[in-house]
Amino acid sequence: MEVCVIGTGYVGLVTGVCLAEVGHHVICADKDESKIKMLLEGKCPIYEPGLEDFISKNIKSGHLFFTTDVAGAIKSQDIIFICVGTPPLPTGKPDLTSLDDVARLIGKSLNGYKIIVNKSTVPIGTAKRVKKIINENIADNNGKHEIDIVSNPEFLKEGEAVHDAFSPERVVIGSESQKAIACMKQLYEPIISQDFEYAKKNNTDKKIPIIITDSTSSELIKYASNAFLATKISFINEVANICERVGANIRDVTFGMGLDSRIGNKFMRAGIGWGGSCFPKDVRALAFTAEEYGTPANILNAVIQVNNYQRFRVVQKAMDMLGIIEDKIIAVLGIAFKPNTDDTREAPSVTVINKFIELGAEVRAFDPIVKKCPPDVDKKVIIAESVYHAASNADLLVLVTDWDEFKNMDFNEIKKIMSKPNVIDGRNILDRGKLAGMGFNYKGIGI
Ligand code: NAD
Repeated sequence: MEVCVIGTGYVGLVTGVCLAEVGHHVICADKDESKIKMLLEGKCPIYEPGLEDFISKNIKSGHLFFTTDVAGAIKSQDIIFICVGTPPLPTGKPDLTSLDDVARLIGKSLNGYKIIVNKSTVPIGTAKRVKKIINENIADNNGKHEIDIVSNPEFLKEGEAVHDAFSPERVVIGSESQKAIACMKQLYEPIISQDFEYAKKNNTDKKIPIIITDSTSSELIKYASNAFLATKISFINEVANICERVGANIRDVTFGMGLDSRIGNKFMRAGIGWGGSCFPKDVRALAFTAEEYGTPANILNAVIQVNNYQRFRVVQKAMDMLGIIEDKIIAVLGIAFKPNTDDTREAPSVTVINKFIELGAEVRAFDPIVKKCPPDVDKKVIIAESVYHAASNADLLVLVTDWDEFKNMDFNEIKKIMSKPNVIDGRNILDRGKLAGMGFNYKGIGI
């Protein structure tokens, strides 16, 4: 099928590559010229394991194209995916400026029946909003064209996005048009039946559930899913804080809880809290919608509060260890909001780095992939070349992102080069017993 994907960020690029890989003809369009230039050279502008190989493979096979001519891509294709960013405004309401721009351009470029698919995470009612904007912008001399709108939220996890797109846990299609639903089913058929090369190679002979619903329910499935996952983490973090007070061990507590199949063991790891481009904005957006529609968002607001507090808990632990923070050297390990991505949006690292700097510390941050902090922090922090460069003469080492390579650091060497052997393990991935035995002053979360 002939597909256009507008926005080649984490979601759009993975969606485009995945649909090309299963045999469709995909044009990925973005207004960002530097991104498209890189992509045309077969280079991936984001760090996402495995993605670059599929980009070059599908460019070569003639299934995948990249362009900055967004209008041209809309005109030539039948199914138009909108995958632009929907960042939060200060109120928590999603900023739909990019989405509205795209909707206007689709209206102006319309030259026949098209299915418009919202893959961006968008507030309740956006399907109707997009349809209205498109219809208002259809040029008079262009005739009236029928369009159908579909809500098709994305659930990929950065760092595992290729696998998640090829083998999703579910595909959600929300639309008021039976014709559009039938088209979307056809588009997703190779993925639903796992009938393509990657699926066969990886033996994913599972059947992917497809959920057909109205657009409003589909929009809510996305927000409610992310909000629930964030709730699980905030819940377990609150329990971890109770563990610290009463002398329990959160690892044992979560293990014991997780064996109950109604609870499960996923998303039950205590730590510094959630971040990234999705959870913070989606929980706030759902709380905003609840309040806008006059229903309380008590749990959602508490989930956000617990998460903010959890980041501050790490700073409190540093204060407990160091006393005055002024003039101390603090090594921060991990800048990305989670491992296997270069995404630093709403990363916990940024909050703690800012706080340490505000309190007068020298901060040296190291991340295996991220070599630059977001602009507001970047000038104030020293980007270290290695764990050992960060730890040299440090009074404290704070592990913020659970990159695999941090599990196997040489703590003999670290002990030698640190000024004081203080470690805060914000992800509970280090061996407390071993570090304590080596003479480190170790603090985890809830252990
Ligand atoms: P992103 O910021 O990485 O990418 C957005 C892209 O859209 C950018 O390349 C930008 O240049 C392009 N763009 C913006 N306006 C445009 C326009 N008018 N014309 C053409 N291109 C335009 O965003 P993302 O992380 O891919 O997220 C996109 C959406 O998907 C968001 O709503 C997000 O909440 C949702 N989502 C993200 C993830 C994730 O893990 N990142 C997962 C699920 C859903």
